Amino acid sequence: MEEGRPGACGQPAGEPAVGTRKGRAAEMIIELHDIRKTYDMGGSPVHALRGVSMGIEAGQMVAVIGASGSGKSTLMQILGCLDCPDGGRYLLEGQDVAGLSKNRLAEIRNRRIGFVFQSFNLLARLNAMENVELPLLYRGARGCRKQAAAILERVGLGDRLRHRPSQLSGGQAQRVAIARALVTDPAILLADEPTGNLDTATSGEILQLLAGLNAEGRTVVLVTHEADVAARCPRQIYMRDGRIVDAPAGPPTAAR
Ligand code: ADP
Ligand code: MG
Repeated sequence: MEEGRPGACGQPAGEPAVGTRKGRAAEMIIELHDIRKTYDMGGSPVHALRGVSMGIEAGQMVAVIGASGSGKSTLMQILGCLDCPDGGRYLLEGQDVAGLSKNRLAEIRNRRIGFVFQSFNLLARLNAMENVELPLLYRGARGCRKQAAAILERVGLGDRLRHRPSQLSGGQAQRVAIARALVTDPAILLADEPTGNLDTATSGEILQLLAGLNAEGRTVVLVTHEADVAARCPRQIYMRDGRIVDAPAGPPTAAR
């Protein structure tokens, strides 16, 4: 952080978010303060997040681990600005997300954040290259085939450009999804159970791919309910019943 700034992300100096290194001027790319989310299930409330506070430094690779139903996906939706919390404050790259317009949020989702899901979420009628090209088309770019092909090459799928999702293995489909998340060159990659549908060996390859992207300086937040997947990440944040129960700071990140 630059000298003379008041605190992480321009916030007043004071109590650091849970899990941040005290006394070290880390750049927080994600800061949550007492985030709450309650779903209404036909009149009975489901408290998915019950006051989540934490910070993630730029360049970290973090696993959010917890049992099914502990609120991990809800947290990811909020981190990715796909959903809004009912309470608390979310600072993304120092900006309070609550104050941003719908257009600005859509722009952040398209330019700053890449999403990877357990079920790949590829469009079945499009081939790999067309799936990867989509986020660029959404932002109004044209002629992005070459760019999409280059990213697919990078994730090891240079020979599968014209395959449709049904013609790919699970691991290959997830690589396409990762390429699609990467094509906009996002600072943050959010992956919700990215290895949940994959066998152990393929999971290992996908985790290695994500670790490589992290080594390039991208912040990676990965959700999992599997301890061995979480153990592959340098930092773990533990959730239970809508709360963070432990969030050690993790090792220092390499400067970008
Ligand atoms: P996880 O990803 O850790 O399995 P979720 O964030 O999906 O947890 O869910 C947390 C809690 O919120 C669960 O009790 C779940 O049933 C509930 N929940 C999640 N999404 C919704 C929704 N759209 N409507 C109602 N309840 C939901
Ligand atoms: Mg989930």
